[in-house]
Amino acid sequence: MADADLPLPCPAFTNTVHEDTLSDEDYKHRPPYVMKNEAEFGAKWRGKCVCGKVTYLLKQEKPLNAKYCHCHGCQALHGAPFQWAAIFHKEDMSFIKGSSGLVFYSSTHRSQTYNLPTKVTCEDCHTPLMDEGRNACLVFPESIEVEGSDEEQRRKKEPLKPTCHIFYGSRMLDIPDGLPKWKGMENASERLDDQGNPIST
Ligand SMILES: [Zn+2]
Ligand SMILES: [Zn+2]
Repeated sequence: MADADLPLPCPAFTNTVHEDTLSDEDYKHRPPYVMKNEAEFGAKWRGKCVCGKVTYLLKQEKPLNAKYCHCHGCQALHGAPFQWAAIFHKEDMSFIKGSSGLVFYSSTHRSQTYNLPTKVTCEDCHTPLMDEGRNACLVFPESIEVEGSDEEQRRKKEPLKPTCHIFYGSRMLDIPDGLPKWKGMENASERLDDQGNPIST
């Protein structure tokens, strides 16, 4: 396959700020894999996989950023037209259950051993839980639990609402929500309108 045919990279796949040389086991002693005391941690959000084997907490209500990614990699890996990711510092996340029952897949390294950046899923039900980059975790808010009616749940998840669409150039459908849209990476590609037409700036 020619390079041009490869899926466009997502931020989690291209973060090369520093090379991490953790051994296979070291990661278990670092956030978000270190189990924190729930009361002391002061969780604002709780997420879990579909089968319930894995539970994690998030300490901050507001993520650093949140985005919809329409890249081909996210489409294929999620079996969905696009991915919704909320970005948190690793220190603000803690797996409190099932951290030994996770499986990893690094698209960059084509490896199932722990190697950043990596996709993290439950080993039993394979719910996608996050993309772990070298500096941050991209959490999938679908797995965050909130109570109430559908309308109440949507309202409660407002703090996790995306600020933009990235890789809108490879979208499967138009999303007329008025949010900023980028052909590729945020702030590093062409701006597009809701229908995918270039916006002249
Ligand atoms: Zn993507
Ligand atoms: Zn599970």
